[in-house]
Amino acid sequence: MSAGTVHVVGAGIAGLSAAVRLAESGRKVVLHEAAKAAGGRCRSYRDSTLDLDIDNGNHLLLSANSSALGYAKLTGGAGALTELPSPDFDFADLGTGERWRVRPNRGRLPWWILVPGRRVPGTRASEYLALGKLLAARPGATIGETMRCAGPLWDRLWRPVLLAVMNTEPAESDAGLAAAVIRETLAAGGDASRPVIATGGLSAAFVDPALAWLVARGAEIRLGTRVRELAAEGGAVRTLRTTDGATELGSEDAVVLAVPAWVAGDLLPGIGTPDEFRGIVNGHFRLTPPPGLPPLLGMVGSLSEWLFAYPDRLSVTISAGDRLFDTPREELASAIWREVSAVAGLFGPLPRWQVVKERRATFAATPAQNRKRPEAAGTGLRNLVLAGDWTATGLPATIEGAIRSGEKAAEVLQRGDTGLSRFVSKA
Ligand SMILES: Cc1cc2nc3c(=O)[nH]c(=O)nc-3n(C[C@H](O)[C@H](O)[C@H](O)COP(=O)(O)OP(=O)(O)OC[C@H]3O[C@@H](n4cnc5c(N)ncnc54)[C@H](O)[C@@H]3O)c2cc1C
Repeated sequence: MSAGTVHVVGAGIAGLSAAVRLAESGRKVVLHEAAKAAGGRCRSYRDSTLDLDIDNGNHLLLSANSSALGYAKLTGGAGALTELPSPDFDFADLGTGERWRVRPNRGRLPWWILVPGRRVPGTRASEYLALGKLLAARPGATIGETMRCAGPLWDRLWRPVLLAVMNTEPAESDAGLAAAVIRETLAAGGDASRPVIATGGLSAAFVDPALAWLVARGAEIRLGTRVRELAAEGGAVRTLRTTDGATELGSEDAVVLAVPAWVAGDLLPGIGTPDEFRGIVNGHFRLTPPPGLPPLLGMVGSLSEWLFAYPDRLSVTISAGDRLFDTPREELASAIWREVSAVAGLFGPLPRWQVVKERRATFAATPAQNRKRPEAAGTGLRNLVLAGDWTATGLPATIEGAIRSGEKAAEVLQRGDTGLSRFVSKA
């Protein structure tokens, strides 16, 4: 095993995960992060309008996300996560006023679909078997080419769930990526599908404890340091040029590039990355949730898609929300609030609110974009590996995918298995 220093570029979840694995195996780690705070697209911040600590976006995990949960446990952040005791999913249809709870049974054999009170109202058990078609999808097919994207079961369960998972219109999304998630969660039984919510905040779960854990193991954290260039020579990165100056790399030193796809594409023009993205809109309302509101509520027949009830606020997620980016924030806040107040049984004026639009929340999970995802070792430079939710993880852009990508990058470096087939650099 090499004894050199590993420079991890980007302290999002993928970079943190790589840094943790490398530090765990005894490597000296230097973490470079362009922003003043770590966490990237998965972080908490003080919102001055709400006067609350909130997350940049509501994030849902499931109990099968073993890498994410293992990372939080190892680094000390698991206490900020609430794992719901049962795999129940509450829904409200704002068009019809109906409410229902989908209640998968805990084991692998999905007998719940035979019990009318456990499935979506107005659906038959046989309709659920269509999920088998998704699980057997041919590589490169869209969901629309694989299963029927219409009818009550689609509108009231599969579409909302798949839209949240893929952050891309499900019918045009890659069926294999969706199947990978379903295989590990719903198809593995209810116990693998229990919702996990960062009730203590994303940074408290995935960022701050990891930074402290790294510092305790001798890692150096450089916040506010943007890497501008990776200068290569002789098939390896030799110099890291940052806003703070240049760092020369020794023969045993290595780099994990864990920046977003569009930054990786700039720093390494030859690699090819996903280049189409989807946004997410979140609406936050400062109030104490009324009693009886579930921690997570799926909303159909509405603009709002998922309602998260935190102790100090109600927060709504709208996936693939690009169509809303030009809508004024006030208009969005009012429209979302009308729906939230209806399902939560709240009356009264708009409370203190915030609307956050994340334009490039995830890469578009279409087959064409999925084919553009490089492997961790796909740079051709022997001391450089890639990490990030956009690398070839086999999952859509998720916390679980980002954490696995960091683990994979660390593993590839430790094995010294980066290949030397191509030379890619701006230098
Ligand atoms: C609103 C929203 C909602 C989401 N909901 C969910 C969800 O419910 N469930 C789920 O599992 N996932 C969800 N995701 C996806 C999840 O947040 C991402 O997949 C994950 O955070 C990506 O992590 P990453 O480390 O790959 O990338 P990033 O978080 O983008 O990290 C890259 C880091 O690199 C830094 N950087 C960039 N350029 C440089 C440079 N030149 N030098 C140094 N540093 C640099 C950035 O500042 C950033 O910190 C959501 C994302 C968003 C935005």
